[in-house]
Amino acid sequence: MRAVGRTLQSFPRLIRTSPAMSTLAVDAARAAELVDNISDVAAKVAAAAAGRQVRLVAVSKLKPAEDVLALYTHGHRHFGENYMQELLDKAQTLPADVQWHFIGGLQTNKCAALAAVPNLYAVESVDTAKKASKLSDTRAGLKASGLGPLNVYLQVNTSGEDSKSGVAPDDVLALARHVVDQCPGLRLVGLMTIGDIARSKAADVENADFKTLVAIRDTVQTALGLDLELSMGMSSDFEEAIRQGSTNVRVGTTIFGVRPPKKTA
Ligand SMILES: *Cc1c(COP(=O)(O)O)cnc(C)c1O
Repeated sequence: MRAVGRTLQSFPRLIRTSPAMSTLAVDAARAAELVDNISDVAAKVAAAAAGRQVRLVAVSKLKPAEDVLALYTHGHRHFGENYMQELLDKAQTLPADVQWHFIGGLQTNKCAALAAVPNLYAVESVDTAKKASKLSDTRAGLKASGLGPLNVYLQVNTSGEDSKSGVAPDDVLALARHVVDQCPGLRLVGLMTIGDIARSKAADVENADFKTLVAIRDTVQTALGLDLELSMGMSSDFEEAIRQGSTNVRVGTTIFGVRPPKKTA
């Protein structure tokens, strides 16, 4: 028995991969470029965080699985996707310990498929009670297969523009209560916003969207007695977002380069 234990420990940890992964060929020059880029962003995140813990989510939407694999091989684990089918495809192709974040517009009829992805780390774009319940029902139904509660962030429309998705600031507390009280398959971990980039670019001024999200977080935290994270900050404003309290930044373009246009199939 002891000999077996030692033998197992002496082997490198196996990475579970799906059969499709063997078809992925990572170009060495592209991999080096991506590693350079993410190292640069990670250094800026660390500097802005000044000792706080901030998670860097590499937003890989519309970028090939090979790009994700290159950064995975470098040791990165948290990746963000906006489109359901793309996330499902990548989750099947890439290693089982990638931590996926769904950050795109949620459709009620697709919540079940999403919640069934075993290595989905979080859905960051929950904005209605109906979608929360759908995600929860699926996840709770999979408990027997060993899946725990799914982490969710509530997406808040901090700018109040009708065109933006997310729950209105005045309705966040009610939605948070719904998740906590009525969604056993979910774990409420934080709030998310897509801040107005123009507001971040205004020199020496705090981004009003980020400020609003912080204030709402404080209210909800106090009302519910929970610690909540803040998911805010993208390529052009992640350092400012961190200075304003973000604990989770979602960076795409600065790591992967400009995205191709989305195909409308
Ligand atoms: C695309 C996207 C990002 C990343 O945007 P970049 O500007 O490319 O860094 C972050 N969050 C959400 C919700 C997105 O849709």
